[in-house]
Amino acid sequence: MNIPTVADVLAARKAIAGTARRTPLITSALSEQVGQDICLKLETLQPTGAFKLRGATNAIAALSDEQKANGVVCCSTGNHGRAVAFAAKQLGVQATVCLSKLVPMVKVKGIEALGAEVVRIGDSQDDAGAEAERLVKEKGMTNIHPFDDRNVIAGQGTIALELLEERPDLDTLIVPLSGGGLISGIALAAKAIKPDIRIVGVSMDRGAAMAASLVAGKPIEVEEVASLADSLGGGIGLHNRYTFPICRELVDEVRLLTEQEIYTGMQALYRMDQLVAEGASAVGHAAILSGKVQITGPTALIITGRNVDMQQFSAVIAGDAVKLGDVIVSGKDKVAVDA
Ligand SMILES: *Cc1c(COP(=O)(O)O)cnc(C)c1O
Repeated sequence: MNIPTVADVLAARKAIAGTARRTPLITSALSEQVGQDICLKLETLQPTGAFKLRGATNAIAALSDEQKANGVVCCSTGNHGRAVAFAAKQLGVQATVCLSKLVPMVKVKGIEALGAEVVRIGDSQDDAGAEAERLVKEKGMTNIHPFDDRNVIAGQGTIALELLEERPDLDTLIVPLSGGGLISGIALAAKAIKPDIRIVGVSMDRGAAMAASLVAGKPIEVEEVASLADSLGGGIGLHNRYTFPICRELVDEVRLLTEQEIYTGMQALYRMDQLVAEGASAVGHAAILSGKVQITGPTALIITGRNVDMQQFSAVIAGDAVKLGDVIVSGKDKVAVDA
């Protein structure tokens, strides 16, 4: 298998310059509380509001002219779709984005506004993925996979180059984990530059496919449920090629959070660091505040995206209850709803 290398990440940096930006690294108010430097990498400031623009741009730029002429398709929890739509538009390529009905409206609208065709289908990321595969067969489009793609992984890895150039002393990187494209790219680039750096993945405790697969020793399926960290939903694919082996090899720890902890993390990100971001971006704060990740030196958290449902965000910040499928999360405790 042809696993991407740090050379691919260096090439990706050139390919994405001009579309995805180099984002700021700022100091978090958590630093004082923890007694170590905690830095925040603000991928929320990408033009599409999330880091996925890096991988999508790198993948579309690598296509042949013939592939570009036939258009691209993808399935997405939202941010990858927006990134594909944005990068495709810049490169003059037609894009179709398949989304499950779990994807918040704010993300659907953002993708449509970029001129991509949106197909809403099914109740899971897997249903959206099946539709994307159908369009590949039927129309000859190229599928830009949200994470299990060499060029996508290499694009996301450019974050690690920026981090270690700015802070070569970083001891730990805390990375929101779903399909694992982000953490795979970051881990392979960071460990090539600094082999003893610690890479910690963080997911929600319900429907964390990569975490369950790492425990099982092979890719497995888990049920997808609604989460405050909606961008972290979805499977890793039973035929996963890249991210599962890379995570198994290079990720040092995986931690899982309750919805309650993510809720508290979102409040902390807003109240302590004044950042408006989605639940997936708050898992680093949540992991530190819950004590689930020990801080052993200067640490960077990837603040992955800001495309949050504003109604839900406002409720969390106000401390109001939020309904997620069959559970309600509030400022204090989580209760099951009677059917
Ligand atoms: C996609 C996404 C993630 C997870 O990235 P993976 O490569 O799937 O692990 C985290 N945060 C946000 C905001 C995302 O859009």
